[in-house]
Amino acid sequence: MAGKKILIVEDNEQNMELFRDLLTSKGYVIVEATDGETAIDKVYKERPDLILMDIQLPKFDGAEITRRLREDSSIDTTIIIAITAHAMKGDKETFLKSGFNDYVSKPINISSLLQTIENHLHGSVSRKS
Ligand code: MN
Repeated sequence: MAGKKILIVEDNEQNMELFRDLLTSKGYVIVEATDGETAIDKVYKERPDLILMDIQLPKFDGAEITRRLREDSSIDTTIIIAITAHAMKGDKETFLKSGFNDYVSKPINISSLLQTIENHLHGSVSRKS
């Protein structure tokens, strides 16, 4: 879905590069942040359609950033997808309750990441915000 804006929140440079290259090649407009404060700032300045949110970040984590964003009703319809190394059974519910629309687990499977993003941007997955 060309032209949609995606904010990538990721502190690992290699992962950031991977996401940036992948999503740029698919025609998405990319905005980047490596920590929570910058992420929140960019959400307001750039109004992304979707946020890819790493969970493990310096200062405050991706769940905390998402909690803060969801306190603002104008951020309600922004799709937030967690990127997590903690893909254990039962976690999906925890993520959905924490304000995320979905999650993908590390190590990242490129095609399932793209599929997840496209599903949400096309609106074929119900919004759970
Ligand atoms: Mn991280």
